[in-house]
Amino acid sequence: MIIAVMSKSAIVIGSGFSSLSSAAYLAKQGFKVKVFEKNAQFGGRARVFEENGFKFDMGPSWYWMPEVFEDFYNDFGKTTSDFYNLKRLEPSYRVLFNEKDKLDLPSKLEDIYALFESYEEGAGEKLKEFLAAAEYRYQIGMNRMVPKPSLSPLEFIDWEVISGLFKMDLFNSFRSYTDKYFKHPYLKSIIEFPILFLGATAENTPALYSMMNHADMALGTWYPEGGMHEIIKAFISICEEFGVELQASSPVTKINSAGDFAHSVTVNDQEHYADIIIAGADYAHVDRELLTEGNKNYDEEYWDSRTMAPSCLLYYLGVDKKIDNLLHHNLFFDESLDEHAEEIYINPQWPSRPLFYVCNPSKTDKSVAPEGHENLFILIPVATGLANDNEAIRERYFNLVIERLEKLTGEKIKDNIIYKKTYAHSNFIEDYNAFKGNAYGLANTLDQTAILKPSIKSKRLKNLYFTGQLTVPGPGIPPSIISGKIVATEAAKEKHYVH
Ligand SMILES: Cc1cc2nc3c(=O)[nH]c(=O)nc-3n(C[C@H](O)[C@H](O)[C@H](O)COP(=O)(O)OP(=O)(O)OC[C@H]3O[C@@H](n4cnc5c(N)ncnc54)[C@H](O)[C@@H]3O)c2cc1C
Repeated sequence: MIIAVMSKSAIVIGSGFSSLSSAAYLAKQGFKVKVFEKNAQFGGRARVFEENGFKFDMGPSWYWMPEVFEDFYNDFGKTTSDFYNLKRLEPSYRVLFNEKDKLDLPSKLEDIYALFESYEEGAGEKLKEFLAAAEYRYQIGMNRMVPKPSLSPLEFIDWEVISGLFKMDLFNSFRSYTDKYFKHPYLKSIIEFPILFLGATAENTPALYSMMNHADMALGTWYPEGGMHEIIKAFISICEEFGVELQASSPVTKINSAGDFAHSVTVNDQEHYADIIIAGADYAHVDRELLTEGNKNYDEEYWDSRTMAPSCLLYYLGVDKKIDNLLHHNLFFDESLDEHAEEIYINPQWPSRPLFYVCNPSKTDKSVAPEGHENLFILIPVATGLANDNEAIRERYFNLVIERLEKLTGEKIKDNIIYKKTYAHSNFIEDYNAFKGNAYGLANTLDQTAILKPSIKSKRLKNLYFTGQLTVPGPGIPPSIISGKIVATEAAKEKHYVH
């Protein structure tokens, strides 16, 4: 059966941040947009579920770079507070190193300088210098590099960027760069922690990404009241206001083409036609499984040789008591970051002594747990593509993290867990068609940055574009939002419409 053909129409595959962003921008430019999402709920990795009075955000929990969200809303004549109340967390987060030592990162810069100085003489001044350089990188990176479609190296021929590349230590590693500033292991952990968001080791990440330290320390950690899925709701409401039609439980099984054009997608055995197709589902899935031979952008060897950002082993827990010694965000850095990173990237295997992260949003938000209870989300980063994602493995790591959680917080927790759900590789594959079970897409290594990332544009089909965390600018909500805008802008320039 053939569905109606509209002029200047677009189909978007998926409903994560990148897809919703591209759909909204295309609709604003006059396209008739239809979104097809395979799952029953929109939002991709930022879905939510409610169980036994607890409300769990399934994926992202850190709201960083609030201006990227605000810019998106402004582009549609809105502002953040039209959708949710955004609260700055104070302190930003806690890092636990052992039973005695923990460090709470203050939200004010002056307090952070003082904290650094208290660990290492001169580190306060050094941090000031480090953050001044980080701010410069952030400004150049966010304004001159991140918004580029990265279709050609010529886009980067910009005097400010070129002169800045030297200042930005693009070719230096993050580790060797930061080693020049700080010696104390706790301070180094704090400085290296934001790199975890980029999905690569500090040795393998360009020093350019110290811009993330500016995001962390100067711009702060925020929380949208009601939870992270409130952002998805906001994006959907903008899409709907601009006439985007969203269809859930609608997996795209094929992108159909004729000559140089993708003319339709197949959904539940029906063909849906459009002038432009934007693939916001995992790039590797679209390239390997939805496109026919001859229309793929890359071969199997290419995909196999990519460095993926990690997968995750996740636990959603409902606890029937309050836990005093946790903040909203808690990083358990009581084991070696380097050893864990090696088991993720260099010799991929189930980790021996993993670091982990605990989000306790009920510290900030009463709506996510019944009174007197806590909502806990535990995340262990693990390598992609690991075999044996089974109940026994999940239970083994559960016992390991709960034991360390109890030890480092000095609180009994295990016996008070009244709700528990686990989530790992096989769920990422089943729910999102995630390549090798990745959680965060493709790592931001030096050889996977800008024009070296999978391209936003199909090499074969003139009107097919790719958006999301496997292409530019990279993983994370702010980059995914920007990715949607870049792709919508490029796609709208397309002159050759199929219909
Ligand atoms: C556990 C976890 C924690 C994270 N923490 C943070 C954080 O704290 N802060 C932060 O900024 N970022 C975080 N991230 C990263 C962030 O969530 C992602 O970068 C971002 O949400 C990716 O958006 P996307 O649009 O690229 O992909 P997705 O959200 O995955 O959207 C892709 C969509 O495509 C759909 N799809 C797949 N195949 C098909 C098909 N054939 N047909 C139709 N639809 C299809 C999928 O179901 C999905 O809805 C986290 C991610 C995870 C998993």
